[in-house]
Amino acid sequence: MSDEVNPFESLQEQIDDAAGYLEYSPDVLDRLKNPERVLETNLSVEMDDGSIEVFRAYRSQFNGDRGPYKGGIRYHPNVSRDEVKALSGWMVYKCAAVGIPYGGGKGGIKIDPDDYSADEMERITRSFAEELRPLIGEDRDIPAPDVNTGQREMNWIKDTYETLENTTEPGVVTGKGQDSGGSAGRMEATGRSVMLTTREAFDYLGKDIEGATVAVQGYGNAGSVAARLIEDLGADVVAVSDSSGAVYDADGLDTRAAKDHKSETGSLAEFEGASEEFSNEELLTMDVDLLIPAALENAIDGDLAEEVQADIVVEAANGPLTPAADDVMTERDVAVFPDILANAGGVTVSYFEWVQNRQRFYWDEERVNDELERIITDAFDELVSTYESTDAPSFRTAMYVVAIERVATAAEEAGIWP
Ligand code: GLU
Repeated sequence: MSDEVNPFESLQEQIDDAAGYLEYSPDVLDRLKNPERVLETNLSVEMDDGSIEVFRAYRSQFNGDRGPYKGGIRYHPNVSRDEVKALSGWMVYKCAAVGIPYGGGKGGIKIDPDDYSADEMERITRSFAEELRPLIGEDRDIPAPDVNTGQREMNWIKDTYETLENTTEPGVVTGKGQDSGGSAGRMEATGRSVMLTTREAFDYLGKDIEGATVAVQGYGNAGSVAARLIEDLGADVVAVSDSSGAVYDADGLDTRAAKDHKSETGSLAEFEGASEEFSNEELLTMDVDLLIPAALENAIDGDLAEEVQADIVVEAANGPLTPAADDVMTERDVAVFPDILANAGGVTVSYFEWVQNRQRFYWDEERVNDELERIITDAFDELVSTYESTDAPSFRTAMYVVAIERVATAAEEAGIWP
């Protein structure tokens, strides 16, 4: 893990790399590289023992030219202003890459949720929701889950907002529980788009997914679902990891049993279905056909990238490769399929949830999965045709060319006013 790399600088570098293939004036590009506004706030919250603790919290609204700001809320000790800015920018280009009508935003609280009770987390979340209230709304800015947040937190945010606004507006937030207006298929959606991107990538590169070996770093919502769906395609998921380390079996792990073990014990450690355990770093450099980083940003830096043995990388996490790692991968001809396509299933099904909330008419899971598949495979086709027609050095740069063009066109069409 490379701590020195600032994810916001990584984002700006990715935009600069793609900008060389596009013709936009410097002022437009400048707008595309910086957030429109960032809320930084301090939440004072009463703890169970009566003491008061203060939490630093952020919401970055990066760009709204293509629609309301959209993106998750993260609870993690590493949350910072620059991390939130970077993550909100990645949301802009992710939504544009798959062609859904949103801008990008992201929020977070600097906190380790494991250190707090459920009651404390509720008060912290509701306090943040109250701070967010003037900024959010189904036509303004729509939060969603991210690292360490899920249905529970989204239900609290929705309830706080609706109570204070004296209305019902389920589309103010996505990723809710299904009885609170959530969509079928939302929980699985990020992992599903990782699987769809993998399937299309293998097909495009003329490789067989059946019997391919796979390592997955990170076994949260994105990683565990991706591992299961890719195992269902016939691949052998030989290694998976979480913060406790990696588990391995040469014949392929039972990804469902690994998930059950993690749910029951809190980690993958001592999973009986594995023959070996080793470190996260060893997992990233294993001799496999496909590597899926599904944890946090900066998991692979330039040095580690030299050691990666996989031929294909599909990014389930946001920003898992540093720009230096990206350069090494390009040089070494490792095919990297970028986060802004591969993990876009989450926000795509958030979009479906929002559409259903506004229509008050709900779809079944089959419809959700069919529409998701159409959106991801269309975006994949767009990616490869741009990759081939522009001679872009990497799939990432080609995907940014597609995405930036869409955002920049909207920005130019809006013009400058006042
Ligand atoms: N946090 C997810 C992401 O990074 C989902 C965002 C959303 O659904 O708005 O894409």
